[in-house]
Amino acid sequence: MGVKGEDAEATAALSDSVIITQLDKIVSWGRKYSFFLYPFITACCGMEFMSVAGPRYDIDRFGAALPRFSPRQADLMMVVGTISHKQAPILVKVYNQMTEPKWVYAYGACTVSGGMYDNYATVQGIDTLIPVDIYVPGCPPRPEMVLDGLIKLQEKVVRERHVKETKGVSPVGEADDRIVT
Ligand code: SF4
Repeated sequence: MGVKGEDAEATAALSDSVIITQLDKIVSWGRKYSFFLYPFITACCGMEFMSVAGPRYDIDRFGAALPRFSPRQADLMMVVGTISHKQAPILVKVYNQMTEPKWVYAYGACTVSGGMYDNYATVQGIDTLIPVDIYVPGCPPRPEMVLDGLIKLQEKVVRERHVKETKGVSPVGEADDRIVT
């Protein structure tokens, strides 16, 4: 009788965990193919972004079709171009307005590290301001690199649990989670 009771408890616990695992997979699959971009475009990398978004490279194939121009409707911020210290508070404000879960894509050398602009006016990498999930350097990055970065981000989304902790504006603690292409 005792053994039967334990079996029933174990079965109930197992069925709970199996359902949760499958739900995670379904949610992750949906998220992977339904990014809503917020393009934060400030400089010349924007030309290459247009190429990626156009029919030749067709970012729509990866479920990242429609840019959203309200951060409240977006879950993927693509930071494209040089960020000056004057623009930094705007970037942080827009990031904070996005709903969870959300991801940040550092597009091009300037967003990754400041690029060639090693000067007092330029932010030396947007991860000094907000958490970054994927880094794609290049000046500008080739469209193939951009798509490769997006695929890596999709893989990361699949690995995440659907219940995601809220990110703060500090990059501290996010380092293990980040991808550099
Ligand atoms: S990485 Fe190069 S192409 Fe992109 S914004 Fe900076 S200078 Fe322009």
